[in-house]
Amino acid sequence: MYRIALLEDHDRMADLIVRAFAGAGMEADVFDRITAAQAALEMMEYSALVVDRGLPDGDGLSFVRQLRSRGNVIPCLVLTARNALHDRIEGLENGADDYLTKPFSVDELVARVRALLRRPPVLRDLSPEYEGLQILPEQGLAKCGDETISLAPAELQIMLSLVRVQGQIVRRTSLEAAAWGLSNPVTPNAMDVVMHRLRKKLGAIGSRLQLVNIRGHGYALREVDDAS
Ligand code: CA
Repeated sequence: MYRIALLEDHDRMADLIVRAFAGAGMEADVFDRITAAQAALEMMEYSALVVDRGLPDGDGLSFVRQLRSRGNVIPCLVLTARNALHDRIEGLENGADDYLTKPFSVDELVARVRALLRRPPVLRDLSPEYEGLQILPEQGLAKCGDETISLAPAELQIMLSLVRVQGQIVRRTSLEAAAWGLSNPVTPNAMDVVMHRLRKKLGAIGSRLQLVNIRGHGYALREVDDAS
């Protein structure tokens, strides 16, 4: 029997979802706070997590990101009432496996969760690597060859986001969300300070990668051109 963790603070919505899962032979436990879901996930084995974004104690998506950064690979479906495309990108960057935009049919939700349960467990690379640069989240380190350097928590989240996309551009807002969470206000120059530090650290461990700011788009890790 599949057991689903449902993080949804809207009582009526939660009831509807629980009943739909029950009709499909799945049991769902409801949590209305991130802290409650967090405690339950530490104690219980759940088959999947369905999480609303707007919660009394934060954004459900930042909870998913936290789980991923701790190596938790539970299938996660995010419920959102916001801009679908933007949320999809943000959701995937933060480790969600699927998302549904409100309003949605509960049957659709059950079908999507079933699909996630059928999927082979995603082999998330817990210490992702790109062009010789490896990020070790457990130790909070960046590694290049034999050289390592420690990363502060915000730096670590930013490097994980950038290394996972293998040279693709990540939007500044996504990096800010990864580093500081979506509910915490970020001072305008916080990102610039972190980027400055990260550039120094990449240089210190002899990485060939540079952190480039692609104006109007975001940031990416790009290989230094030897010819220049
Ligand atoms: Ca809500």
